[in-house]
Amino acid sequence: MDTFICQNCGAEHTELPSLSFNAPFHYDILDPADKESLADKDDDFCVINHKDQIDYFIRVILQIPILDHDETLDYGVWVSVSKETIDDYRLIFSAKEAEEKSYFGMLCNEITDYEISTIGLYMQVSCQLNGYRPLLIPYESEHPLVQDWSNGISRDEAVRRVNSVT
Ligand SMILES: [Zn+2]
Repeated sequence: MDTFICQNCGAEHTELPSLSFNAPFHYDILDPADKESLADKDDDFCVINHKDQIDYFIRVILQIPILDHDETLDYGVWVSVSKETIDDYRLIFSAKEAEEKSYFGMLCNEITDYEISTIGLYMQVSCQLNGYRPLLIPYESEHPLVQDWSNGISRDEAVRRVNSVT
């Protein structure tokens, strides 16, 4: 693993990997046959064709700032969006020139670092001009995830979260 001497605190750190979900929760809970017949998923887009409705998801990044460090703990997560949004985002995604755009989405992964469910949290989805996946900006809320996004977490806490999944 890559380690480096931190410019901020002088300690030796390991680069924090991002914590990623391969699919939205709503895909994970489908049985294998339904995944095959109802869902269409790749690394960035997921569509689930239920009988009565179609659900659209895109993959994005949630960055939690780390206190006193120029570093973030990154969660690779999925948000549900409208058909209009996914159509528009597909155009941006495939275009060579990035566009400054933002959408509305709802978080669709259970981040188990929080005792209160994270599914359904309201998010602004902000496209990045550098071609990376869009960043989430949570709507104001008392939810601890949103508080962490606003206030930051300690580096020790970030390391604890990374280690808890490996
Ligand atoms: Zn440090």
